Amino acid sequence: MRRVSIFGATGSIGQNTIDLIARDPDAYDVVALSGGRNIVQLARDAQDLRAEVAVTAYPEMLPDLREALAGSGIEAAAGQGALLEAAQRPADWVMSAIVGSAGLAPGLKALEQGATLALANKESLVAAGPLLMDTARKHQARVLPVDSEHSAIFQGLVGEEIDAVERIIITASGGAFRDWPLEKLATATLAEASSHPNWDMGQRITIDSASMFNKALEVIEVKEYFGVRPDQIEVLVHPESMVHALVGFNDGALMAHLGAPDMRHAIGYALHWPERKPLPVERLDLAKIGQLNFRAPDPARYPALRLAYEVMEAGGLSGAAFNAAKERALDYFIAGRIGFLDMARIVEDVLDAMSKEAGLIGAAVTLDNVARIDQMAREQADRLIGARV
Ligand code: NDP
Ligand code: MG
Repeated sequence: MRRVSIFGATGSIGQNTIDLIARDPDAYDVVALSGGRNIVQLARDAQDLRAEVAVTAYPEMLPDLREALAGSGIEAAAGQGALLEAAQRPADWVMSAIVGSAGLAPGLKALEQGATLALANKESLVAAGPLLMDTARKHQARVLPVDSEHSAIFQGLVGEEIDAVERIIITASGGAFRDWPLEKLATATLAEASSHPNWDMGQRITIDSASMFNKALEVIEVKEYFGVRPDQIEVLVHPESMVHALVGFNDGALMAHLGAPDMRHAIGYALHWPERKPLPVERLDLAKIGQLNFRAPDPARYPALRLAYEVMEAGGLSGAAFNAAKERALDYFIAGRIGFLDMARIVEDVLDAMSKEAGLIGAAVTLDNVARIDQMAREQADRLIGARV
């Protein structure tokens, strides 16, 4: 039996992971499940999967969780300390699917105990790529990509040498507003930004897809995970979301990965790796699909992409600042305090302000420094937004 834990179990990725695990209950021994405010789901899944412990990130939710688990024999715990404690419990495979930089610390703890970390939480790599990858190396643990593009690249590299890679192309659907006139974007509402043409995901990543901040994070994720140079990474708008990524080799060959837009592909690949096992996902009928389209992203429409390359150029802790500023700007957009296009402006202003402070961005990528920069970037965003509205 493989011991597995799922952080962010109540979310979109978490639920897809549980779907796969629940189909083969005898194969897995579930150690920890974590969630946030969705106590009903967390308690139900913990009981169905007979988890050892269920953790909510929020201490004020503990009484509800205790009540929901009463008599089940499953431990209930809450708060940051409990999350870290749960991540330290021995497990073979740990899904990192908390949303935002809150996923970093539990992921590091899982790596420190030698678990294989299935990484959906791209924010970890953006904010602290070198720290995460070094921690894995130091503890002979492994990070497996779960983001669909990165899983596709990973699969395209099986049996290949990274030195033979010339370029990596990740695709983007273009999100909810890909066909909107540019002038209209400023008025995009929360409801409009929260629906994705192809993928069914959590609200935050769905909005990030419309703004291309998601793709910006993913470009940085490619650099951190695969160790290629920024100029080797390209983004291609591909409205059908069937080709997830392409790896270009030094002989001119392009290896493309295709699959239905269903996250159980990438989750399942990471779950069964190094084996490949049958998955309950739709098979593509290419004859019926007929044609696939590709175009270059319009830089005027997607300033987030330009920012990603600037962040990679700056290096150090700029990824942590970028991600935190983006998270904060997104909070404000969701709260209805700023417009859709303001998000990129705020993030750019935060990066500008922070890069002017000597020694800030260039400091070592440690957990403490990442947390400090994360906090500073959020505060800077608060100040800028406070001054604007
Ligand atoms: P969701 O919003 O659906 O789920 C997020 C999960 O994290 C929930 O379990 C939520 O709990 C929990 N959570 C929220 N805030 C905190 C916090 N501060 N501390 C601890 N736990 C918290 O997100 P997704 O599943 O869409 O995304 C999860 C991660 O996977 C993100 O990093 C995203 O970028 C990445 N990803 C997602 C994809 C997708 O298809 N959804 C595709 C590729 C990557 P609760 O809901 O109970 O409050
Ligand atoms: Mg992705």
